[in-house]
Amino acid sequence: MSHDEAARRDREDALAPLREAFALPADTVYLDGNSLGALPKAVSARVQSLLADEWGQDLIASWNRHGWIDLPERVGEQVAPLVGAAPGQVLCCDSISVNLFKLLATALALRPGRRTILVEAGDFPTDRYLAEGLASFLGEARCRVREAAGDQLAAALDDDVAVLLVTEVNFRSGRRHDMAALTRAAHEAGALALWDLAHSAGAMPVQLDACGADLAVGCGYKFLNGGPGAPAFLYVARRHHDAVQQPLTGWLGHRSPFAFADRYEPAAGVLRYQAGTPSILALRALEAALSVFDGVALEDLRAKSLALSDFFLAAIDAEPACRAVTVLTPRAHGERGSQVSLAHPEGYAVAQALIEAGVIVDFRAPDIVRFGFAPLYNSFADAAAAARCLATVLAEERYRAERFQARARVT
Ligand SMILES: *Cc1c(COP(=O)(O)O)cnc(C)c1O
Repeated sequence: MSHDEAARRDREDALAPLREAFALPADTVYLDGNSLGALPKAVSARVQSLLADEWGQDLIASWNRHGWIDLPERVGEQVAPLVGAAPGQVLCCDSISVNLFKLLATALALRPGRRTILVEAGDFPTDRYLAEGLASFLGEARCRVREAAGDQLAAALDDDVAVLLVTEVNFRSGRRHDMAALTRAAHEAGALALWDLAHSAGAMPVQLDACGADLAVGCGYKFLNGGPGAPAFLYVARRHHDAVQQPLTGWLGHRSPFAFADRYEPAAGVLRYQAGTPSILALRALEAALSVFDGVALEDLRAKSLALSDFFLAAIDAEPACRAVTVLTPRAHGERGSQVSLAHPEGYAVAQALIEAGVIVDFRAPDIVRFGFAPLYNSFADAAAAARCLATVLAEERYRAERFQARARVT
């Protein structure tokens, strides 16, 4: 029985004690850490001391005394080992959207004879919107966007592609790309590779340096647990430093902001990708959240993530009522991220019925229910409970209730 089996797996799980580092509500199975990571207990204490001792007491002196000014860089160095980046290449700042603008412009500047940004059809909309926004801003003579299906990206690389922009783990299907192979294909075609790590950083090892990635962005509030609206991060491979000036030339990307010079001169290295004043409250929260990863081997995290989703898939395979859903996520480990996506014609209402029963999932149009497994805090008991609840919702057709039909603004 999967309940006993789950209890046994949790007892044998060496990472299980990490759950204690998080404040999770009782009686809730939280499977939406791929959308908003849970609250690490260390964040509350750190933000309290920021308010009381730093902002509250030392006021503006804190920029120097408490190193506020260096936080984007320092928190970037905490993220670096999670994404396989040697020091000096990662900065925590702004949102993924804003960072994409900076990095896509950088890529075009590094490939002056080429115009095309190649994107994956069905990738996260903001990635595509930003590419199209940049293209319409620069004009068709300088930039255009072309899309290809995920398995056609390598074949679609031609001598006009300046940059391949792709999310490692697709937000809808949970399918994972082979970063090393696609990066190699981009380079063979003379293009750069820009990776979006929103659904991989913090859930599995990422090897930006080893794969030869050129540029990357990632999310602070998903698997890194930095809190709602946490700063994102960006990565620029060292070999591209200093060759290009990114277009959002704000004062904090200046080599000497407090010289207040009339002429903009970019800072050395990745620091030039900073634009305006960073949110110190948000960076302190992310800094504390990242401390949960100290001493955790990413290979172990990945192994647990796959074990959780395997366990969940086996549990729904065993439930006759679950034949009503289609599994969109690939079963092969190498092709899977840290979520399981199920399609059902009444997907939105199914998700609402699960949430009402205490299993927090989310919905992505048109018909996808996502079960995100955060290996730092999710348990096998969570996976078993979610499968059982899904079977009940489907068997009893609970999703047909009127109250599950009306859509909220955030799904
Ligand atoms: C969550 C997510 C984003 C979020 O972008 P923001 O600008 O930080 O809100 C971007 N891309 C992908 C693939 C995502 O999953």
